Amino acid sequence: MNMKNKSKKEMTHFGFQNVYKDKKTSLVSNIFHAVASQYDLMNDLMSFGIHRMWKQFMIYRSEVYVGCTVLDLAGGTGDLSIQFSRLVGNTGIVVLADINDSMLHIGQKKLRNLGILNNVIYIQADAEALPFSENTFDCVAVSFGLRNFTNKEQALFSMHRVLKPRGKLLILDFGVPTFKVLHKIYDLYSFHILPKIGKCITQDINSYRYLVESIRMHPDQETLKNMIIRTGFNNVEYFNMTFGIAVLHCAYKC
Ligand code: SAM
Repeated sequence: MNMKNKSKKEMTHFGFQNVYKDKKTSLVSNIFHAVASQYDLMNDLMSFGIHRMWKQFMIYRSEVYVGCTVLDLAGGTGDLSIQFSRLVGNTGIVVLADINDSMLHIGQKKLRNLGILNNVIYIQADAEALPFSENTFDCVAVSFGLRNFTNKEQALFSMHRVLKPRGKLLILDFGVPTFKVLHKIYDLYSFHILPKIGKCITQDINSYRYLVESIRMHPDQETLKNMIIRTGFNNVEYFNMTFGIAVLHCAYKC
């Protein structure tokens, strides 16, 4: 490719770096291949286990019941799928979809070890081009996945398409903390302590630097709410958790 064409190509962010849009997905994929085997342990260590409460609140708001069809998108190691499989029972189905096969394999092993065999299926898929028919799911849930997507609006359109009318969208991710004083402590923890914990456990400081930087590049609560509205969803609301460190956005397809 000559320089003229290259300069025309669109850029996006990968953490604090600017990269070509068509390179971001594979860069993100490399990160999750690298951290997959230690992902669950690191989640507990980095959040002091609080991510479990955030996810529990997400499940509580999901309105999922016996017989529902649920998409756990960017589901990784399957924390949400475990809970959803219990809610939908034998007559429902949970699809655990992720772009990264290392994360999916760990998730599949974890669920099988818990005896979850019959109502969860595993699909390698890109959130921006979901391989499902229109109006398939009662609920689409994404926890800590959206900030990694290259084109978030494209992914939201794709989620809107596969949701049934009146289906529910749930997006859990990091937000902008609501207390100013918290920002400094949060920055100190995120930029100085967290990558070091990552290095101790996984010998991989760069992946955890990316994770922290991607949190800072993620849209704030109101910006994400407006993006969700723009992509066709209704009744959009959000809930700040732990002073806005994590945020749950909820919406419906009309
Ligand atoms: N949902 C899980 C949780 O809450 O623990 C995993 C979250 S992990 C931080 C982010 C996940 O998003 C990774 O498993 C990654 O492979 C997946 N991911 C990133 N980009 C994706 C894409 N374009 N489509 C589908 N999954 C993607």
